[in-house]
Amino acid sequence: MRSPARRPPSDAELHARLSARIEALEDRVRRLEVLVRGAVVAGRTRSSGTASGRVRRQMAAPRTGGRARPRCPGCTLELPPGRRGEACVWCGFLFDAVRPRKRKG
Ligand SMILES: [Zn+2]
Repeated sequence: MRSPARRPPSDAELHARLSARIEALEDRVRRLEVLVRGAVVAGRTRSSGTASGRVRRQMAAPRTGGRARPRCPGCTLELPPGRRGEACVWCGFLFDAVRPRKRKG
């Protein structure tokens, strides 16, 4: 893949490059840590009249009355409600592949 004219960088060169990168990353992490700490402290201290910062939890999927939704036999993901097409919207699995239709005539 590489052109033969170019020599691969030497170990020392690579090392220097990597260490420089690591230093930059460490610097970044340090800054981010400071930011995160500041945010945590700001979140802990309840200053008067804080309306912002409330996060609603909607991670859990709401249960739909115990009625199981049809699942795709290919990827086993629940199919979205509504019109059911010929193929899974997630993986494109063709439902006809596992549901043979009876032909009449
Ligand atoms: Zn699928």
